[in-house]
Amino acid sequence: MIIAANLKTNLTRKQTEIYVNELEDYVSKHTISQEVLVFPAASSLNPHAGKVIIGAQNAYATHNGAFTGEIGLDHLEEFSIKTILIGHSERRHVLGETQEALVKKFNFYKDLGFKIVYCVGEPLEMREAGKETMMEYISSQYEGIDTSYENLIIAYEPVWAIGTGLIPTLENIEEIHTDLKEKSIAPLLYGGSVKVTNAKEVLALRNVDGILVGSAALYSEHFCSMIQYAEDLN
Ligand code: PEP
Repeated sequence: MIIAANLKTNLTRKQTEIYVNELEDYVSKHTISQEVLVFPAASSLNPHAGKVIIGAQNAYATHNGAFTGEIGLDHLEEFSIKTILIGHSERRHVLGETQEALVKKFNFYKDLGFKIVYCVGEPLEMREAGKETMMEYISSQYEGIDTSYENLIIAYEPVWAIGTGLIPTLENIEEIHTDLKEKSIAPLLYGGSVKVTNAKEVLALRNVDGILVGSAALYSEHFCSMIQYAEDLN
């Protein structure tokens, strides 16, 4: 399984280093065979050798250039980063990234062989509009994306469940994951208010290949418990 932590705009470089080392210790002491990914803030990236894979939360589709506020491939290469999160709901809905811009970014990093965690998910109004409208909306987020890319991981993250403490029912997660598996055989993670108290049930669902965790991953001991659940299930 794949257990991923999106640290968002949290943890300084020093705190991230301590955090990642705590995870690394856990993973090696408990001979964890799951894939553990961590996405720190851009200014907290560090070179890291070990089993925990460090990825970028974002980078522009460029080596370098005049894109104020962005980082590019050169900055990722400095830390040997070969994993990137694309299409997170906060980038789509808060920072206004369009599907067109995401496709451009996806193709740029795909051509470089990056492991890409590509996020999809519906806002509340789409969910409330009924299953058909909701699935059409999610399908539109697959447009232009090479769903057979070998280094692709997809994360289904309902926007209304991110950081809210709300989560779809387990039956609903399983149903949507089963539908989404028809679009791509890539590993499919669930994300949105996963925490220690619900991670085990979510991980046990059919067609859930892992989890993408935000707030609850900020505590290394909580995140390690979730990693252990996945290990035990395997
Ligand atoms: C996320 O941001 O990807 C996420 C799932 O956040 P949270 O776990 O806090 O809902």
